[in-house]
Amino acid sequence: MSRYVFDFNDGNKELQDLLGGKGANLAEMTRMGLPVPPGFTVTTDACRAYLRTGALPDGLFQEVEDHLRLIEARLGRRLGDSADPLLLSVRSGGRFSMPGMMETILDIGLNDTTVLGLARRSGDERFAWDSYRRLIQMFGKTVFGVPGEQFDAELAAAREAAGVATDAELGTAALRELVAAYQKRFFAYAGRDFPQAPHEQLYSAITAVFASWNTERAVLYRRQEHIPGDLGTAVNVMAMVFGNHGTNSGTGVAFTRDPATGRRGVYGDYLPNAQGEDVVAGIRNTVGLDELARMDPASHARLLSIMEKLELRYRDLCDIEFTIEDGKLWMLQTRVGKRTPAAAFVIAAQLAGEGLITDDEALLRVTGGQLAHLMFPAFDTTNAPAPLAIGVPASPGAASGTVVFDSAAAAAATGPVILVRHETNPDDLPGMIAAQGILTSRGGKTSHAAVVARGMGKTCVCGAEDLEVGPSLFRVGDTVVSEGDVISIDGTTGRVYPGELPVRPSAVVRWFEGELPSTGDPLLTAVERLTGHADTVAKLAVHANADTAADAERARRFGAAGIGLCRTEHMFLGERRELVERLILATGDEERQSALAELLPLQRDDFTAVLAAMDGLPVTIRLIDPPLHEFLPSLEELTDRVARAQARGEDPGHDGRLLVAVRRIHEQNPMLGLRGVRLGLMVPGLFAMQVRAVAQAAAARAAAGGDPRPEIMVPLVASVRELELVRAEASQVLSAVEGVPPIRIGTMIEVPRAALTAGEIAPAADFFSFGTNDLTQMAWGFSRDDVEGAFFGRYRELGVFATSPFETIDVAGVGELVRTAVRRGRSVRPDLVAGVCGEHGGDPDSVRFFHDAGLNYVSCSPFRVPVARLEAGRAAVGDGPVSDSR
Ligand code: ADP
Ligand code: MG
Ligand code: MG
Repeated sequence: MSRYVFDFNDGNKELQDLLGGKGANLAEMTRMGLPVPPGFTVTTDACRAYLRTGALPDGLFQEVEDHLRLIEARLGRRLGDSADPLLLSVRSGGRFSMPGMMETILDIGLNDTTVLGLARRSGDERFAWDSYRRLIQMFGKTVFGVPGEQFDAELAAAREAAGVATDAELGTAALRELVAAYQKRFFAYAGRDFPQAPHEQLYSAITAVFASWNTERAVLYRRQEHIPGDLGTAVNVMAMVFGNHGTNSGTGVAFTRDPATGRRGVYGDYLPNAQGEDVVAGIRNTVGLDELARMDPASHARLLSIMEKLELRYRDLCDIEFTIEDGKLWMLQTRVGKRTPAAAFVIAAQLAGEGLITDDEALLRVTGGQLAHLMFPAFDTTNAPAPLAIGVPASPGAASGTVVFDSAAAAAATGPVILVRHETNPDDLPGMIAAQGILTSRGGKTSHAAVVARGMGKTCVCGAEDLEVGPSLFRVGDTVVSEGDVISIDGTTGRVYPGELPVRPSAVVRWFEGELPSTGDPLLTAVERLTGHADTVAKLAVHANADTAADAERARRFGAAGIGLCRTEHMFLGERRELVERLILATGDEERQSALAELLPLQRDDFTAVLAAMDGLPVTIRLIDPPLHEFLPSLEELTDRVARAQARGEDPGHDGRLLVAVRRIHEQNPMLGLRGVRLGLMVPGLFAMQVRAVAQAAAARAAAGGDPRPEIMVPLVASVRELELVRAEASQVLSAVEGVPPIRIGTMIEVPRAALTAGEIAPAADFFSFGTNDLTQMAWGFSRDDVEGAFFGRYRELGVFATSPFETIDVAGVGELVRTAVRRGRSVRPDLVAGVCGEHGGDPDSVRFFHDAGLNYVSCSPFRVPVARLEAGRAAVGDGPVSDSR
């Protein structure tokens, strides 16, 4: 019984771990009766043994010999036979495809003697010498590390001497001389002759394939693609077939559907009289499959029927490698093919439409990351100039505009602008909102610029280190770009271009917005089908974070089932600041009440508009959260204003009083200071005014025939007592307003203490909403705005975390707080509704966690709603994580 070697007859496509993707699929095709040259697979087990010990495991030799005998018997040809030699290919192939990362050696078995036998037997001397020179080249490179350029140089010299443009035109004599030249190069580099013994060639090749698992480029590729480093590769040994056997032969690659668009049909390239990598190496121009149909209609028809069978068997897009030898078609590889995000959607929906897969399976074939990609506009780079610089592609999309260097200029601009900064901070928010795109010279994927831009669905390139950013221009080498110049930034590639590049707006977004019909467009109908199906299977509802009627309307168009977080702080900005100042400066109850009384109707109108836009759906309104000094001028600014007034001998008046107040309420750690529920308890009447505004808005909407469903949410609660006090006051206020529909009162869970005492808090809360931004800050004890730029890059390098815990929920820590709170809360209140309203609500990996944790909904920015809907559906039908990287 074999342990390390499987004949192609014995494997199948399910054995990818053991046989690698290539080996398992060669076995599957063999089982299907397709024309696959005979061969066998040396398992990944053998590779792992080799990587552990540095030697091929015991018994492997005998197993390989036994299986070799089977091939020889089947073909009636022996390895090393000088009259009619068997030739072999030795091919790498692990569990996950690593294109071009590892090695394959063709034509094993040729030497100075067998090459003559091959020439005689095939009646084609040229072909025999061409195969031999290929073997020396591939074997020399892979087994002995001879630099490829050395062989390339000889090949170029041979072409020049013969006066021909392509390898295919080299004659027999030239190829024979080339073999001699290659052997000299081999000797000079390796210090020994090219091995003549076919068995030595075979075992050296197998060993070299195993060893190539750990080449630098393979290691790097795996790290990027998140492929584990300890899987190892299998080796496939199979009989050669010859595409380089004259014009009646050739080799090609094909896809069962277009991997770029998903369109039905067969797509491929074919190269007559060629072997192996010639097709993709671009040495000669390939022809399309329609041309093959003219040249060799029988093989073409055969190929098409095989591809149809493969699609039915794999129920997915397949890509294949094939070779035609003297008019006979051979299958050399197939696998489920990689594809663009658009093609992924189109193909999944088509296959579901054809009944080949269920809609549940179709959902698992696409990802939220892919949908996000489809929602960003893209540049048309066909005629693009060379990029000025390349930075970190932080938030996908394509943006062009005139360059501005500060937030105020961006906010004041009339046309599209690109905000260029060293890095951004919360003060830049208005400029970021106004700008088309954001470009920074510092910071990575979790820098402030990147996080905020992604949340807004805005294009961002950050950390473009070649940029020297000054106050009114930036330099890249000798190039100077001044304020007012136009640039284009590509958030998908990180490229920064001079001038304006043409863009294509995302059709998917235009469809969500209702600007395009889906009919007739395969991508849009696919997105419609899959997001629609996700909604029907999802256990997790998707709400939006929205504070205005416009945002609420957009969220609805994007499929939100309500508002999970309506912030009220922006309702205290602009002209209303003055009222807030009066509130803070108030010395007595009367002054305070009069300021609040003026705020009341303004708040009521805000809420009425949002409730109207979300009619019939829940709107969770959060009472004011930030510390009040955020609404006052800064300490520095006031100190400066007061000092100037005094220098002029004037009375600083209002500014002087403000300064006293700002000094009084100044905090060392505002994030941990007087904010949230603490404000409600410390500033009499503030929360009551907000609750009254909600009640009046709801009553007005109800009276107008609407279906308002507001909920009131208390931020930053740590103790049930805090919530009870606010709740008692709120209930009183609500009952005093007439015609108010029932309004639930719940709490955010964003302080670790609240999560841990959820069992005490639940009786006072109609619902929980996890504020995972604050919960993450408080669980880790760092503030996002301060640490992301400062040390997150280093922390990722050091392996403290793989992704920022502000991007993807930290399952072990913050996630455990969420689970604990849900469990304890529901143990006393089984019907407790629990949701999430942090940034994580729109992050694909986090959505899966929230589903697993048994939450009722996630809430995220409107732009991310479709992604969250899709992921909520995937989580419901999936059995384990399916990530983007495969
Ligand atoms: P990769 O994994 O990089 O695609 P492969 O193992 O598929 O490498 O092989 C490289 C090339 O050699 C492919 O074009 C393949 O079709 C060709 N090839 C592999 N085995 C044989 C064979 N037995 N006969 C003819 N061509 C082969
Ligand atoms: Mg291949
Ligand atoms: Mg918070």
